[in-house]
Amino acid sequence: MAKKILSVAAIKDGAVIDHITAKQGLRIVRILELAKAGRTVTIGLNLPSKTHGKKDIVKVEGRPLTDEEASRIAVLAPHASINTIKEYEIVDKTAVTVPDILHGVIICPNPTCITNHEAAARSYRTATEGSKVSLTCRFCERIFSLEEIDEYEM
Ligand SMILES: [Zn+2]
Repeated sequence: MAKKILSVAAIKDGAVIDHITAKQGLRIVRILELAKAGRTVTIGLNLPSKTHGKKDIVKVEGRPLTDEEASRIAVLAPHASINTIKEYEIVDKTAVTVPDILHGVIICPNPTCITNHEAAARSYRTATEGSKVSLTCRFCERIFSLEEIDEYEM
């Protein structure tokens, strides 16, 4: 396991977000502002994945991810796993879980939703069925899948 990680680029302390749905890697770095404050971030795009065809990997040097960050990652990449690295060793590996209630992150795909016209705090109820995640906007009650989302809060 440790060898596999090293073959891409070793990090001493931090987190490796693996099995990110292809194309979501850059988005995760942007939305979570992982590269903020000069932090070293390594991004691998369209890497071969045994289970999902292609995947992205993001490595964040310097600190573990918070639970809040992990739940935001879950919405962008429900199959992701987070490896916490200490002294080049994986000390923890967890699959992300989609939060029951998601605050922000996503812009409601309903163009007439009030949250797209007024400064209302966006929030969504989530439901997971197998590998499918659906979200319900708490303002307009629009139900949509992750695939229908094309705009995210920055
Ligand atoms: Zn809405």
